[in-house]
Amino acid sequence: MCFYNDPSSTGECRSFILKNLIPVIGFRFFKTALVLLCLSMTQLTGLAQVPPSSAKAQLTSRFRADRILVRPKADTNLAALANFHAAQKAQVTRTFEGIDNLQIVRLPKGETVPGFIRRYEQSGLVEYAEPDYIVHVAATTPNDPYYTNGTLWGLNNTGQNGGTVDADIDAPEGWDVLTSASNIVVAVLDTGVRYTHEDLAENMWVNPNDGGHGLNVVTNGNDSNNPEDDHGHGTMVAGILGAVGNNGKGVVGVAWRVQIMACKFVDNFGYGSTSDAITCLEYARTNGAKIINASWGDYDYSLSLSNAIYSARNAGIIFVAAAGNDLRNTDIIPFYPASYDLDNIVSVAATTRTDDLVSYSNFGVTNVDLAAPGTNIYSTDFLSDSAYSTDEGTSMAAPHVTGTLALMLAKYATETHQQIINRLLSATDPLPALSGKCVTGGRLNFQKAIGPPIRLTAIPPVNNGPFQLHLSGDPNRTYIIQVATNLTYWSPVFTNITGTNGTFDFTDNQSTNSTQRFYRALSAP
Ligand code: CA
Ligand code: CA
Repeated sequence: MCFYNDPSSTGECRSFILKNLIPVIGFRFFKTALVLLCLSMTQLTGLAQVPPSSAKAQLTSRFRADRILVRPKADTNLAALANFHAAQKAQVTRTFEGIDNLQIVRLPKGETVPGFIRRYEQSGLVEYAEPDYIVHVAATTPNDPYYTNGTLWGLNNTGQNGGTVDADIDAPEGWDVLTSASNIVVAVLDTGVRYTHEDLAENMWVNPNDGGHGLNVVTNGNDSNNPEDDHGHGTMVAGILGAVGNNGKGVVGVAWRVQIMACKFVDNFGYGSTSDAITCLEYARTNGAKIINASWGDYDYSLSLSNAIYSARNAGIIFVAAAGNDLRNTDIIPFYPASYDLDNIVSVAATTRTDDLVSYSNFGVTNVDLAAPGTNIYSTDFLSDSAYSTDEGTSMAAPHVTGTLALMLAKYATETHQQIINRLLSATDPLPALSGKCVTGGRLNFQKAIGPPIRLTAIPPVNNGPFQLHLSGDPNRTYIIQVATNLTYWSPVFTNITGTNGTFDFTDNQSTNSTQRFYRALSAP
């Protein structure tokens, strides 16, 4: 079995890991109401504060821990307020004279926002004091330079470099819902991963037994826990699905946070054996992986490999496989493992920045599920801890799907692999170029796959009546509304299931008895 597009071979050895040739030494072939974050059952989203005897509520995703906003009372002597600030060791960083002397106040170390606000409210000097909420735009933009400069077109395509606007997976819109799958282990069965890379190190899984990041079986029977990459392919794949996001460095994975388990069974020439692939599959299965990325394959049917993937299936593991790069209809000439008939396999073809099928991508209306970006894909390179480079092929398309699935598993933690895969496949963007070429006829859309965010909005109370909230999220899903008076100790006050429109309303009859209440919503387990 061979695993890459070896230019020196012909005929059957036409699989690959990667598509293009990158001439390096010798040859390298292919080389967030107050919304906080949520993972599985602790998806905190909306948080609303009822100010004392007021009909308004503040809704946002977060607030700064180091600042509050205070508005002096109209009759307050500002010098007296300045003395109060000094006594609190607080610092006024700005005063807006045009807004009734509204002040930005910096907290001293060790103070909490709720406690500080209460002190100001009790001082009698201020009209109000409130958190410095963080607002967010409708799409989340990470600060990674190769994202912000438009290199990562597959994540956000604005037509740069001859591309088609929106020929992408709608990553920024999806990140508005979720960026972290930090509790999800993804196994990269490949050439290894440069686990010291500046944009990968923080996202590497750590084996609690030996402190390693995975397994290396390309050692003639002397398996080691050092899955170092001596080829480059696996490091590229890892960066696409899970390079550290918003760290100001390099690229950004579809999942900003995830646990990457590296299983090296492909050697430095790009070859791996089925038996070694099976060893890695079993390692992934027995060490808690939820998804396996398989950006490799060939045209030989192996009952043993199929059985190993079936065992992973019985453990609820999703297996994402590259469809192959040989311009073949895999319904006629099946490419494995992508073409095994197992319900946990997701087979991925590759699209271009103009939403066409990549010229050499395999396809198959039965054996290929969907497509994802797979040309001019920039990612982490194995040559150094700060190296990046470009690659292409269905090998690079598959990890876009894998990263999306990691975030979906984080959000929909109780769903089965079939439910998650059904969500994924029903959420693609249908494309003319993919019609009749794959099951969905569509390209991956991360935003659609991850579903809507949870939002809490305030319904203005009538005549100082009880406070009402409107929750919107996924349809037919259970959400818990919690309340706190100090932003620290939360207690559930209401649990309900959204209707088919994804919403329900809640009236808090206790709100009229309390001076200050904050609300948040969580999705139930
Ligand atoms: Ca888009
Ligand atoms: Ca980064």
